[in-house]
Amino acid sequence: MAEIPGSTDEWIVLTAHYDSTSLSHGAYDNMTGCIGLLGIMDELSASAPNRYGLRFVFCGSEERGLLGSKAYVAAHKEELDKVVLNVNLDMIGSIMGKFIAVASAEEKLVNYLSYISMEIGWGIEGRQGVYSSDSTPFADAGVPAVSFARIAGGTTAPIHNRYDTKAVVSAPQCKDDIDFLAYFCDRMANSVVCPVSREIPEKVKEDLDYYLNRKRRPANR
Ligand SMILES: [Zn+2]
Repeated sequence: MAEIPGSTDEWIVLTAHYDSTSLSHGAYDNMTGCIGLLGIMDELSASAPNRYGLRFVFCGSEERGLLGSKAYVAAHKEELDKVVLNVNLDMIGSIMGKFIAVASAEEKLVNYLSYISMEIGWGIEGRQGVYSSDSTPFADAGVPAVSFARIAGGTTAPIHNRYDTKAVVSAPQCKDDIDFLAYFCDRMANSVVCPVSREIPEKVKEDLDYYLNRKRRPANR
């Protein structure tokens, strides 16, 4: 973990996982996410102290069932009411692929991301829901969370096999992705009040129940 303390006692927790699957080199999934955290840390330390503190958590054993982030959330239960947002990075900087955001939070966050992206000429595809990564234990504990990724399907940027090497990663694309993420984090970290409301919508809670196998998804969904 690494921290950039803010001028308040509230925090944004940023996560990325550093493990990979067996047989994979793990360059894209998910060393790029870890590089993303370091890049955001670098950019946001320049404006420190930001209003909200930033805590960077490098999670282990994501691929084995989000074990690192589940352990973090369990060990920090008492402090979670001071965490206004979780920002999770899963695979950025691929040579090809689209940049996506999945908000386990109010729909307004999806619209906000779409608006600020248009203002600065950034391509993003956002949706509300559950993303299979370290944002999920936070959302399940009531902390609004958003996962970002640049994804390319099929054989373009493969994951979980031996073709996940640095050959599928582009340094300039990593830089652009980090710049966007730092821009978003800067806006959140320096807002007078974090604009993301502290509630997990019923629809997202239901998706969490399905994702975490507490309920069976109806056959027609
Ligand atoms: Zn992964």
